Amino acid sequence: MSNGFDVQQAAVVGAGTMGRGIVISLASAGIPVLWLDSNAKMVTAGRKVAADTWAQQVVKGRISEAQAEENLARVQAVDSYAALADVDLVIEAVYENLELKQSIFSVLDNTLKPGAILASNTSALDIDAIAAVTSRPDHVLGLHFFSPAHIMKLLEVVRGAHTAPAVLDAALALGKRLGKVAVVAGNCHGFIGNRMLKTYVDEARKMLLEGALPRQVDGALQAFGFAMGPFRMYDVVGIDLEWRARQLAGQGMDSPLVQIDNALCDLGRFGQKSGRGFYCYAEGSREALHDAEVDALVEEIAKGLGLRRRVISDQEIIERCLLALVNEGAKILQEHIAANSHDVDRVYLNGYGFPAAVGGPMAWADGQGLASIQERLERLQRMLGEHWKPAPLIVRLVAAGKGFADVQEGRV
Ligand code: NAD
Repeated sequence: MSNGFDVQQAAVVGAGTMGRGIVISLASAGIPVLWLDSNAKMVTAGRKVAADTWAQQVVKGRISEAQAEENLARVQAVDSYAALADVDLVIEAVYENLELKQSIFSVLDNTLKPGAILASNTSALDIDAIAAVTSRPDHVLGLHFFSPAHIMKLLEVVRGAHTAPAVLDAALALGKRLGKVAVVAGNCHGFIGNRMLKTYVDEARKMLLEGALPRQVDGALQAFGFAMGPFRMYDVVGIDLEWRARQLAGQGMDSPLVQIDNALCDLGRFGQKSGRGFYCYAEGSREALHDAEVDALVEEIAKGLGLRRRVISDQEIIERCLLALVNEGAKILQEHIAANSHDVDRVYLNGYGFPAAVGGPMAWADGQGLASIQERLERLQRMLGEHWKPAPLIVRLVAAGKGFADVQEGRV
């Protein structure tokens, strides 16, 4: 790359939800982008979305008309990989499928100039498995944007086993240029944010089966300060995304935890986009309205699974969801997936609507005192099972009288 890894020309492969936001973000920061999709109509539609976004920003007085025109002029549709030969950086944002991404990275590696950086926007796939099909694994990494990519502040920079430090630095510099909060994450399923989210959502799902209802779970977590409870979040993201992924992978459909999601999708209740999900929505409105049909469905599924429902307090909801985040965050720290607890908190604050006033899940845990966190995890372990066993790092920190803030690169 020219100018010591300064990105002069970028490319984006994929013009769906994420590709669009990424292109808007790059072009808005003054970076020219070549845009490729196997379906050329997606790029045409994407360019229109980008133009509309900038037009709205003009109306709001955020940018001038001239800037909007310059932004759009920076976005150029292309119809072949050969056209990408001279770019400094390519960001791939096609369907979440390892084989597909590997085939694209192989072509990119054969086509792009030496020194060009190859990045994937995958949410959870193994960056090393993607890098392995190239001759330049030191120039491969994850750039995990969040949806909508031109608005959400968080950028997880995913370090593969072979990613060169200078390539990570280039990615962090790019993040800064895009006005993002960039956090380096190690390579594991879901990286920092989505790996923690899974434990939190699983806990919320279990509580639905045990006796809570979506409105109660969301209400309790929103009262704690979350921008959105997990079920409202699923309605926004689309309940069907994971459902389709389960079907495609041919696994996970039978887990009791996803039976409510499966049933909602079977009914065409995908979330906001279909007007009904965990909640219902009036035409053109995003206001989540209570739907008694969903409560009845939750109760029926729990009964079908042979579960006896009980009263679950708001306090239990908050306790289990937060402690799930903290325990997984501790495992992430102990495995060096995050360099320190501050990075874990930055991910959660900037990508997952965690209340800023609380400082992030790890800062919250330090504030509670890790001895108390350990005791509470052990109590849950006795009541609910081994998955609540405190992470070894927590036990070590408590014994040393320290907190998560004292951990750097896995060391206390
Ligand atoms: P999408 O389905 O909206 O878009 C995917 C695009 O890829 C489509 O336009 C499709 O035509 C194109 N495509 C498919 N095969 C192609 C090929 N061989 N060559 C070129 N283009 C091809 O998907 P999305 O939601 O934008 O997700 C893209 C990636 O971003 C996935 O890896 C996903 O996990 C990740 N991601 C998604 C979100 C989200 O909230 N949607 C958030 C973070 C990361």
